[in-house]
Amino acid sequence: MIVPATPDSIRSAAEQLRSGAVVAIPTETVYGLACAIDAPEAIRRVFELKGRPSDNPLIVHVASLEQALTLADVADHDIVRRLGSALWPGPLTIVVRRSGLVSDAVTAGLDTVALRMPDHPVTREIILQAGVPLAAPSANLSGRPSPTRAEHVEADLRGAVMVVDAGPCTYGLESTVVRVLGTQVVILRQGALSAATIESALGTMSVRAASASDEVHRSPGTRHRHYAPNVPVVLCDSPEQIGATIEAHPSERMLVLCSADAIAALPGVPTRELSASSLFDEFRRAEALQVDRIVVLCDDNVRTDAALLNRLQRAAETSHAS
Ligand code: AMP
Ligand code: MG
Repeated sequence: MIVPATPDSIRSAAEQLRSGAVVAIPTETVYGLACAIDAPEAIRRVFELKGRPSDNPLIVHVASLEQALTLADVADHDIVRRLGSALWPGPLTIVVRRSGLVSDAVTAGLDTVALRMPDHPVTREIILQAGVPLAAPSANLSGRPSPTRAEHVEADLRGAVMVVDAGPCTYGLESTVVRVLGTQVVILRQGALSAATIESALGTMSVRAASASDEVHRSPGTRHRHYAPNVPVVLCDSPEQIGATIEAHPSERMLVLCSADAIAALPGVPTRELSASSLFDEFRRAEALQVDRIVVLCDDNVRTDAALLNRLQRAAETSHAS
């Protein structure tokens, strides 16, 4: 059931969470399927509702730096303070060694926990009123595009939980997940915050993408099938390649996603503007329109956006495109 975010629904969501229920909540990245971190039955239900693989840990959401520190091992408090004070609240998830307050159920047995302070007044108020940190993965069925509107959650979970509706998400893409290794910030999952933004906020620390040698630290979730609509996704490098794809499949209904700059180069083709914040919404629109194929123009606007490119590549590799 979708309920608009009001003081009453926020209070009700917080009460339900405190008493061990699962509630879908808005954040600035994507909608989350939340439960209290001290409610083992609710944590199990989150995995069950999503069909989430049991080895994929949940991000824990906090309302303050102090609350985050209670969840981190003392040895990592400096890291939480340093990154948190520079970039929280915001779409940055920091992986640190966990304290005794965080259970195996949340971390899928890992000795680390992923922490984030969302930059959304409704999320913050729900966490504050619940009085407990909230574990929350994206509120989609596992493998599907993340939900950026309350209706997306309702479509995937079919009324199983209350959805607090605060409108479309500002970023529309998941948080960036990082871990500090030595003096470097390593990006375990590309997301709403770019490496350049993180680097400029942190000053002296360098930021890099995870490499093969970081395998042991990798976000377990990046191994799983992800972000794919029920429509094949094909990536093209140029308007000419899109033309050739359309010609090769004359009987198919296609939808082209491309940056605003490129729309003029594709006259006569059903086209929607592509941006990181609208990608998942466009995937779900294309499903509703029952097109046969989504064709995406990966020009420089896309190739220079690591998170957008990552989601597109994952969607293309896991879809049944020929
Ligand atoms: P989701 O909230 O569904 O967008 O996924 C959260 C992401 O954070 C997944 O890719 C998880 O694997 C990752 N994650 C959560 N906890 C940890 C952790 N302790 N170490 C590394 N990655 C984590
Ligand atoms: Mg997810």
